[in-house]
Order: sequence, then structure tokens, then C-alpha cells
Amino acid sequence: MDNVLAIPPTIVSFREEKYFPSFSDLPVESNLDANFYTSVDGSFWFPAKHWCFLAEIVDSVRLVRLRVYVRDRAGRTIQIAFHTEDRGETVPPPLVQRGNTVAIFYAQQHAFMDSSLGIRQEELSNIKIFPYKHEDILQLSDRVQAYSGTQDGMRVCHGCDAKRETALRCVSCGYFWYCNQDCQATSWQEKGHKRDCEMLRDPDLRMMFQIQWDGHDGHRIFPPM
Ligand SMILES: [Zn+2]
Ligand SMILES: [Zn+2]
Repeated sequence: MDNVLAIPPTIVSFREEKYFPSFSDLPVESNLDANFYTSVDGSFWFPAKHWCFLAEIVDSVRLVRLRVYVRDRAGRTIQIAFHTEDRGETVPPPLVQRGNTVAIFYAQQHAFMDSSLGIRQEELSNIKIFPYKHEDILQLSDRVQAYSGTQDGMRVCHGCDAKRETALRCVSCGYFWYCNQDCQATSWQEKGHKRDCEMLRDPDLRMMFQIQWDGHDGHRIFPPM
């Protein structure tokens, strides 16, 4: 909880296509897509920003390897095939559940042998499955956009929408602000902050809210699932 008070200067909306592309907007494996990679000398290319593929699980199969079928923001269903050393065996089955959301940093489009397209997942360090629906994550992002920062230099109370120069901060998540304890109670009981606060305490989702997406200072990773 040591980073509770750290809200980054700009929080990116998880609806931004630039950082949260649909499958068809992902870079194609081994292509140097200028929307994603940059080079100073034309020979060494590196990512120009962070990006993350977010999509909701619709189905999964465990045969030789784990295959997870997900629906992306454009409504397209693609497969994620686990070509990791463990073939996806260490991914806990309860997580691989319809309605949960997969997040993959720096995802790329892969053409499989049967010519279908999907994601060939080669490591576990850039993938995470959140026990939340995609739309719930997007709506949380909307509320974080609206309430965690300042408007005209003022804080916005999540309980009553009043703008104030000084406000109380939710001590659990650190992202939401209140006029007083009554407004905090309204936020918690009537405006859904109980659930939002719980989601914002998920360290991996929290990390995603803290990334400065426009730029690249090394790959972000997820801890083992
Ligand atoms: Zn208020
Ligand atoms: Zn909170």
C-alpha cells in the first residue's frame, strides 16, 4: 500500500485506441509498424509507447495447450494460444472463465499454420487475466478519468459532484475525493465506490492506471498468475 498516494499526472483512458487497440489494429508480428515502434538509426527499432490488448474471454480449450478465445473491443473473436513453456498449465482454471478479461502488454497479431489469426503467447510475464468484465474495467477507467484528477484546479467529489479546492481522499484506493464523510458514504453505498475501490486495490490494475503510456522506458510485466 506504499503507493496509495501516487496518482500520476496524466491518467490514460482505457478506451484510447492508441494504447488499447483492437486486434486488427495490433502490430503484425515481425512487421515494424510505425504506430508502435520507432528507430533513431533505421536499424535498431524499439517500442515507441506502451500498449495493451484487452479482451473478454468467451471460451477456452485445454488440449495440447491452453487456447483462450476472447472478444475484443471491435467485437471480433480471436484465439490466444499458449506456446509458453508450461503450455498454459499453470494458469489457474478458475481464472480462465467466460466474462473475465485478458490483458496482454505489447501484443502482436500472429498468423497460425492453419492461416487463422490470433495471438501466439510465448511468455507469461506480459499476460494477466482479471476477474472483471471488459466493460466494467472501461467504466472504472471512465470514473477514474472523471474523479481522480482536478478540474480547473479543483477536486471533484464523487458523492455529490461538487468542485472544491480541498477534499478528503479515499484512503483505501487514493483515487477518489469527497467533501466530507457523508459524501464518502453516498459514494460507497449508492455510487458503486465499494466495488471500484476493491478493483483499484488490485495491484496489477493499479499499475495499469499508473503507467505513462505515451513513451517507453522498458517493458511492463505482470507477476505470475
Ligand atoms: Zn460532496
Ligand atoms: Zn477508494
